[in-house]
Amino acid sequence: MTSVVHGDVTVVGAGIIGAACAFELARRGLRVTVVEAFDGPAEGSSGRSFASVRAQWPDPLNIEISWRSIRRYRDFAVDYGFDVGYRPTGYLFLVPAMSWTDHLAAVDLQRGHGVPVEVLDVEAAKRITPFNDDGIAGATWGSADGAVDPHLATTAYLSMARELGAQVRYGHRATQIEAVAASDGWVLTAADTRFHSQHLVNAAGGWAGDVAALAGLSVPVVHSRRNVFSSAANAVPVPLPMTVDIETGVYLRSDGPRLLFGASRPDEVDGYNLSLDWPWMESVIEMALGRFPWLSEIPLDRTGAWAGTYENSPDHRAILGADPGAATWVNACGLSGHGVMQAPELGRLVAEQVADGAITSLDVSDLQLSRFAGGKRISALGMVF
Ligand SMILES: Cc1cc2nc3c(=O)[nH]c(=O)nc-3n(C[C@H](O)[C@H](O)[C@H](O)COP(=O)(O)OP(=O)(O)OC[C@H]3O[C@@H](n4cnc5c(N)ncnc54)[C@H](O)[C@@H]3O)c2cc1C
Repeated sequence: MTSVVHGDVTVVGAGIIGAACAFELARRGLRVTVVEAFDGPAEGSSGRSFASVRAQWPDPLNIEISWRSIRRYRDFAVDYGFDVGYRPTGYLFLVPAMSWTDHLAAVDLQRGHGVPVEVLDVEAAKRITPFNDDGIAGATWGSADGAVDPHLATTAYLSMARELGAQVRYGHRATQIEAVAASDGWVLTAADTRFHSQHLVNAAGGWAGDVAALAGLSVPVVHSRRNVFSSAANAVPVPLPMTVDIETGVYLRSDGPRLLFGASRPDEVDGYNLSLDWPWMESVIEMALGRFPWLSEIPLDRTGAWAGTYENSPDHRAILGADPGAATWVNACGLSGHGVMQAPELGRLVAEQVADGAITSLDVSDLQLSRFAGGKRISALGMVF
């Protein structure tokens, strides 16, 4: 028998974005239901992330959204009593000569937003992470950057949302979504239940396009596989912070006793694919050895590796806000590989859209879905990591 749930907002997706939205919406006094296809939270991209957070971005909007989010992770235990695993282990960018001027301009911008960033010469940078400095002009170090635990953060947000009356339905894949013209609302069908609500939040990660299509809407988000490779336990003598070689795109950091590393494959074919790309691991190691020659001595452990998917938009920026053709449909998707570091502020902005009818506390017009219709593209500088 079909059951019926009535609420103010249905959130599709119990990843870190949907969870943050659910809490912030419930905090505004709204009746929230989260509908999730998997049997638990954070089983999509959120649970397969590299989990790094940084406010070192080249543009004001990403700096502000990340920096507000990082501060919320930092204060989470005090504010809400949950440990979300925030560790300010730092984030080191190794910058080639050709990018140095742009990178220094970005540092000025970041400092203008209050972000702690240091400019280091190569010798100081090598004391943090050893590397071959051929072609490197200098480095930047974000001391408040680091990592969080996406599982802890997602479950904390969902627990707090539940405390405020939200319902979370796992094992409920949305298969049908109908607009209700009379009320401007939505009816979403998942398993044996019909969820009626005034607003619908699309936080379906790499599936956001599929979910939008159920309602006859178009949201350009695709899955794109990323691989994380791993050393054996205790392979590096001291823990290394997140270190990015901008020239090759190789990144690495310690996670517990292991060293994790990876790089985006430029010719990766779009689609949901969780199989590990072992030939790509060989290529990454080959690229990395020029910069981090000591990697040749490190024993690897294939059982510590995993693959997941980024949820890419065409310009690798979030898609945020009301759909241009349906004011009560709110997109919170297309984070393109930086959803963990931006979820807290994204959730707050989504709640503002729903509860107040518009986002006014921050100019997020660059993130509106309508930017693609106008052919507007924003520089993707610094977006690949
Ligand atoms: C290898 C890797 C490394 C990454 N590294 C970082 C990093 O260092 N820092 C960072 O900030 N980000 C990183 N990311 C990106 C980050 O993980 C994502 O941006 C973030 O998890 C997106 O969260 P989400 O909640 O939107 O998506 P998801 O976690 O994928 O959640 C979406 C949910 O929607 C559900 N759903 C989909 N369709 C339906 C439906 N029809 N009905 C019901 N539910 C549905 C899914 O089951 C899923 O649980 C990385 C990702 C990967 C894969």
